[in-house]
Amino acid sequence: MKKILDVNDLSVSFETYGADVQAVRGISFELNEGETLAIVGESGSGKSVTAHSIMRIVPMPPGKFVGGSIMFNGEDLTRKTETQMQKIRGKEISMIFQDPMTSLNPTMTVGNQIAESLIKHQKMTKKEAHLRGIELLKVVGIPNPETRIKQYPHQYSGGMRQRAMIAIALACNPKVLIADEPTTALDVTIQAQILELMRELQVKIGTAIILITHDLGVVASVASRVAVMYGGKIVETGNIDEIFYNPKHPYTWGLLGSMPKLNSRKEELLAIPGSPPNLADPPKGCPFVTRCPYAMKVCKEHMPEHTHLSDTQQTACWLLDERAPKVDIPETAVV
Ligand code: SF4
Ligand code: MG
Repeated sequence: MKKILDVNDLSVSFETYGADVQAVRGISFELNEGETLAIVGESGSGKSVTAHSIMRIVPMPPGKFVGGSIMFNGEDLTRKTETQMQKIRGKEISMIFQDPMTSLNPTMTVGNQIAESLIKHQKMTKKEAHLRGIELLKVVGIPNPETRIKQYPHQYSGGMRQRAMIAIALACNPKVLIADEPTTALDVTIQAQILELMRELQVKIGTAIILITHDLGVVASVASRVAVMYGGKIVETGNIDEIFYNPKHPYTWGLLGSMPKLNSRKEELLAIPGSPPNLADPPKGCPFVTRCPYAMKVCKEHMPEHTHLSDTQQTACWLLDERAPKVDIPETAVV
């Protein structure tokens, strides 16, 4: 499989009055052509900052690249100027957001918003862009596209706005589509439809997708691989089967609601007690140490390295490290 995006040891911080908030701390992952990679984690885990870094829409300052690279087409996106990024953004790498109302322009018709990028990047005429716009609305399943294309976002329902945003993002057949919590604001039925749509488009267009979500449930139906983020780090990566049926990181167990606990009723298994680390003063060792039921002394002092469990699965946990003191690794009871 051809690698199209290669993130290496990326660190992104935000300057604040007190200390730098280390939102992303040395993460590495790759995206292959045509695949869907889900980046999963709680809010504040660094997943959106990762997405925004790839799009280069992190405000700098206060944000800054502290280290690492984001290789795309053989070039490092962290080193691009804004002018160079404008040629990539919306054309080669597009993004859809959680709330279409904040990214759709309320004063422009949906048709004109689609046309904008086609005229800019593909040098289409207005007429050509209009026809392509109708086609795109059809692709994303908006009924009566000839009429709908002339309407404004407020004339669309929530689900349709999300579809329109996907149409805009796909207008130039981008190589990479980043979807940041694309279904969170929608009701369950519409969520399912949007995810189904993303899966269809993946097959039809072959765009590689990075799906950012806090919800592992969303992931199972669309993603081929998963990276689990916690405290600014990727703590586990694996394909869908590995993450759902053979997860090895205690945080992934927690996300799956499968963390074995004594005296707990089933519904209580879903929440992981405690709160995420303060990234203005991140823990020296494992970021999950304060919430992990299996934490050992070594976890506090030293960050675990990634253990390669298969070609596709890597987990950063001392429980898997040969050098760690031996403990009983609990059986994971994944439903
Ligand atoms: Fe828990 Fe230690 Fe593994 Fe971190 S390294 S997840 S604290 S056992
Ligand atoms: Mg890499």
